[in-house]
Amino acid sequence: MCAACGNVLMRHERVLCLSCLLELPGTGFHDDAENPVARMFWGRVPLEQATAFMYFYRDSRYRKILHELKYHGQYRIGIEMGRMFGRELKSTEFSRIDLVHPVPLHPRRQRQRGYNQSALIARGIADVLKKPIEEKLIRRTQDTASQTRKSRYGRWENVEGIFSVNVPEKLKDKHVLLVDDVVTTGATLEACASSLLGIENVRVSVAVLAYVKID
Ligand SMILES: [Zn+2]
Repeated sequence: MCAACGNVLMRHERVLCLSCLLELPGTGFHDDAENPVARMFWGRVPLEQATAFMYFYRDSRYRKILHELKYHGQYRIGIEMGRMFGRELKSTEFSRIDLVHPVPLHPRRQRQRGYNQSALIARGIADVLKKPIEEKLIRRTQDTASQTRKSRYGRWENVEGIFSVNVPEKLKDKHVLLVDDVVTTGATLEACASSLLGIENVRVSVAVLAYVKID
């Protein structure tokens, strides 16, 4: 079944049917250094580059992709969306990163869910870019997911210092691509990137599957 519209897939189709693939609300941000996702982090955390694969709209059929990925353990959707994203990044500056790392879940949440949806996307991207993936070098020390309904301001304050890095030597001199499923305020990614930036000569870029535009 198509992950967006639910129609039966043809043999050559993967995850999305052809019409959903053609109508996918892609951002076209990857080559634009001043795109809205990159701008979100200006003055907050110094990133090399930031981008998102698609827009996330409240009433969109594509919303189902993220829901299936997050709550129904649809591994194939995550990996395949990551591969699609990776194919777009391949011809851009993002192909120059050294390794891919997903934004980690808190260990308790990961145990409950059984997987990290962002890690699936990260695996798809790493696969296409032919870059190594690390999933355990960054650790989430606080579980903030229950606070997602708080205001933009509240979330920002709550995520400071929620990540720490294991074996920082492994990231020394590296350009790390942080991968997450959704970006709204950028607070979680900001905190995650900040946890890396104390490491010697580390650079950080960000790739997010879906960008939620808030006005
Ligand atoms: Zn479809």
